[in-house]
Amino acid sequence: MENEFQFDIERYITKEKFDKIKEFSKDKETPFLVVDLEKVEEKYDELLNSLPFAKIYYAVKANPLEQVIRMLVRKGSNFDIASVYELDHVLAMGASPEKISYGNTIKKSKAIAYAYSRGVRMFATDSEGDLRKIAENAPGSRVFFRILTDGSGADWPLSRKFGAHPDTIYKLILLAAELGLEPYGISFHVGSQQRDIGQWDNAISICKYLFDSAKSNGIKLKMLNLGGGFPATYISPTHETSVYATEIIRFLKEDFGETLPEIILEPGRFMAGDAGVLVSEVILVSKKSEVNQYSWVYLDAGKFGGLIETLDEAIKYPIYSEKTGPSQETILAGPTCDSMDILYETEKYALPASLEEGDRLYIFTTGAYTQTYSSVCFNGFPPLQAYVLE
Ligand SMILES: *Cc1c(COP(=O)(O)O)cnc(C)c1O
Repeated sequence: MENEFQFDIERYITKEKFDKIKEFSKDKETPFLVVDLEKVEEKYDELLNSLPFAKIYYAVKANPLEQVIRMLVRKGSNFDIASVYELDHVLAMGASPEKISYGNTIKKSKAIAYAYSRGVRMFATDSEGDLRKIAENAPGSRVFFRILTDGSGADWPLSRKFGAHPDTIYKLILLAAELGLEPYGISFHVGSQQRDIGQWDNAISICKYLFDSAKSNGIKLKMLNLGGGFPATYISPTHETSVYATEIIRFLKEDFGETLPEIILEPGRFMAGDAGVLVSEVILVSKKSEVNQYSWVYLDAGKFGGLIETLDEAIKYPIYSEKTGPSQETILAGPTCDSMDILYETEKYALPASLEEGDRLYIFTTGAYTQTYSSVCFNGFPPLQAYVLE
């Protein structure tokens, strides 16, 4: 006999909100995502209240649902976009181009020219090739330079692909000025779901060094972009937002003193993650042999239906069943014919032993990086449906 199935649901969602989502979803065919718009708004306010001097550029890719973008436009948020498609989307939702930053360092000349024609005047860069494309296709624009970080301490690191070494960045700053662009600031991303706040300390120090080097060449940088990385509430614990804020303020003051440059944040996961509940159904419970102690539980939601961040079991979503009674350790897998479509095998999730076909499972903290990551029609399964609770 194993322990009772235990789950501290209040850590992820209020009882009241859960009941509301349950009521809303009771007649709908699973799987689907429900996004609680109030929660996104609450997270935006929480971050801005903790770091009131900062400007928020919401990382659109985390959750671009129309209602989410419209609400943020209304609240005065800025937006970090990565493609001309995201650009058109946020413009169509009413964002003005002065509030948009083109944060992807990998872009076609055509994309830069298009963004410029729509009024975008701020671009991220980390290479000479990209910088020259910006100079040609978006003359006179502000550019900020992304430094490389190693992503350690992050559950979903973004290391290696983006950013450049400080020495390379230094040369790019000088080149930008020569090319008639405005070298505006420095950016970094410490890795997504970053649980080690000290990573901001290292990166901020490098930024300070670059501010000073630029200044000794007569270039005054004005902006520091602290990126994303702020956490959502998954199973592995993280510090409170206020702790992130206190520490980051301390790091900034250590390096920059009392007169800080313009500070930008680019939260994605933090804003949208906690707002989502993915409602899924058990398709099958099985055992691979009589003696095997673990059950396999197959859900109608898997790696290709929005849960790709379970790759290497990096993101551990809280999963809840309303059944009670003894629990059992299970291996969780998705519905497709790809053997990669296993959610958790190393990490054994404790779920009620009485779980059976047709039971619903509620996957919390799925508001970020789920719907947009779901595949178009692998095995014929449609992309993850999303509803917004307004
Ligand atoms: C994805 C991304 C973000 C958002 O990161 P989170 O960890 O989700 O907050 C911010 N900035 C850039 C440039 C990104 O690519």
